[in-house]
Amino acid sequence: MGSNPIGPTDRGRAGYGARPADVPADHDVPADHHVHSQWSHDTGPRASMAAACARAVGLGLPAVAFTEHLDFTDWGPDDPIAGTGITPNDQWGPRPFDVSGYLSCLDECRDRFPSLRILSGAEAGEPHLFAGSAAAVLSSGRFDRILGSVHTLPSRGRLVYARALLRREPADALMRRYFAEVVAMIEGSDLFEVLAHLDYPRRYWPEAAGRYQEQDFEEEYRAVLRALASSGRVLELNTASPLVSVSLLRWWREEGGRALSFGSDAHLPGHVGERFAEAAGLADAAGFRPGRDPFDFWRG
Ligand SMILES: [Zn+2]
Ligand SMILES: [Zn+2]
Repeated sequence: MGSNPIGPTDRGRAGYGARPADVPADHDVPADHHVHSQWSHDTGPRASMAAACARAVGLGLPAVAFTEHLDFTDWGPDDPIAGTGITPNDQWGPRPFDVSGYLSCLDECRDRFPSLRILSGAEAGEPHLFAGSAAAVLSSGRFDRILGSVHTLPSRGRLVYARALLRREPADALMRRYFAEVVAMIEGSDLFEVLAHLDYPRRYWPEAAGRYQEQDFEEEYRAVLRALASSGRVLELNTASPLVSVSLLRWWREEGGRALSFGSDAHLPGHVGERFAEAAGLADAAGFRPGRDPFDFWRG
């Protein structure tokens, strides 16, 4: 974390830098559009939708979206991966997304926390490869926020978690492969609205590869941002990843991007809204402002 330190002049609105990182101001606080609860397959016993809502209320967040993981360990007949000869990742564990249980839990939380806008959602993993399976789940309920994510890449005929690949491929080559897959996802799927954690493997960047520098991948970032902007979609500022720079957010605007989402990617209630003050300062410095409604995306 913190591989992109920002200087005081980059902080934008005065005051953001003075607050603890996870306690935003009481106005212009972004909604958290990327939170996981007990309904995601990779959360532990302490994950709780109700506790995450309580945390959001405590922080003064206007809204929270529970974007549970939608990953598949097998393919169906309408999934493009079926024709590739690539085997899905089998590491996710056998916990399919229980949509009806999830939706009734959301309703209970909406009753319990009336001041908080609670949005439904899903984080579709590799939706360009699992188009049919993902669409079938998403059509079984109403989902307000759908994120698109690349977590795995093909390697030796199988989808492998990007973190594991960083241990067996040169980091910069893996990163370029990752960005190419993100472009393929954007161009190959209209199932999602928000691109989640656009440089995900950066979270696990090996020390031996030297300091991670966005400029080393500017061309690849811009290709991702251009594809996303041309389809009118939304970039996420993910605060579980090392925070992107103001420069990168300016690349987003230069490539035509107009909407920015904030996501903590919390898998525990205590991480909801984490580092949002700092993230809001970065967005502000790059020219993004709160949308018309407090639960909406920021606009630039
Ligand atoms: Zn993710
Ligand atoms: Zn996530």
